[in-house]
Amino acid sequence: MLLSLSQAILIATMIQIFSIFCKLNQISLSDRQWVEKETESLLSPDHACPVCHAHGSLSPFASYTRCLVEREKGKPAVHEIVIKRFQCRSCGHTHARVSSALVPYSSYSLRFILQTLRDYFLGRACVQYICDRAGIAVSTLYRWKNLFIRHKALWMEALKELHAARPVEFVENMDGHFLQNFYQTFLLSFLQSRHSGHPESSPGEVKTPSAAT
Ligand SMILES: [Zn+2]
Repeated sequence: MLLSLSQAILIATMIQIFSIFCKLNQISLSDRQWVEKETESLLSPDHACPVCHAHGSLSPFASYTRCLVEREKGKPAVHEIVIKRFQCRSCGHTHARVSSALVPYSSYSLRFILQTLRDYFLGRACVQYICDRAGIAVSTLYRWKNLFIRHKALWMEALKELHAARPVEFVENMDGHFLQNFYQTFLLSFLQSRHSGHPESSPGEVKTPSAAT
C-alpha cells in the first residue's frame, strides 16, 4: 500500500503499544486504566526508532496531557491522560507512545467509537438517539462509519476473504491481535484518520480540547 507523505510523517511520530490481546469486549479495565497499564509498560530495549530504525536508541523525553472521552455507564465521560514522548539519540526525532486503547488524533477512545458503531449497526435505536446518547453529531457517526467500512475492507482484502463478516460480528470479534496486525500491516491504527487537522467535535458535542496523537 502506498503511503502519502503526510501519512508517513504522521506515522513516524508515534509508537503504538500493544500489550492487551483479548477480545475488546472482554476487557474489564476502563479505557483510562487500559491506557495507564500500557503507558506504564517498559519500552523494549530493542524497540526501533520509527524514523531511523536504530535499536535501543529511545530515551524518555517529555510528557503532555490530552483528553480522552470514554463511555461510563453508557454516557460519555471526559478525562485527562498523560502521553509520554521519547527521543531518539541517533536521529533526534521525538515520538509519542500511544496506547492501543486510543485512536491517534481522536479524543474518543477506540472502544467508545466501536460501541457507538455497534449500536448503529444493530439498528435498535434511531441514529439521532444513538448520537444524542454518545454526545456526538450525526455527521461524526457517519464519518466513523465510513472509516470503519474502509478499514474493514482493507483488512478483508489483506486476508483475501471472499465473504466479509457482518459489521457487528467484526466489532464483536475484534481483539488486540487484530489491532496489532492491522497497525503492522498498514502502518495505521484502526479507525485513525490520515491527518490530524480534522476537528473531532462539532457544535453541541462533548467539549474537549483537540487531542494530540
Ligand atoms: Zn531515530
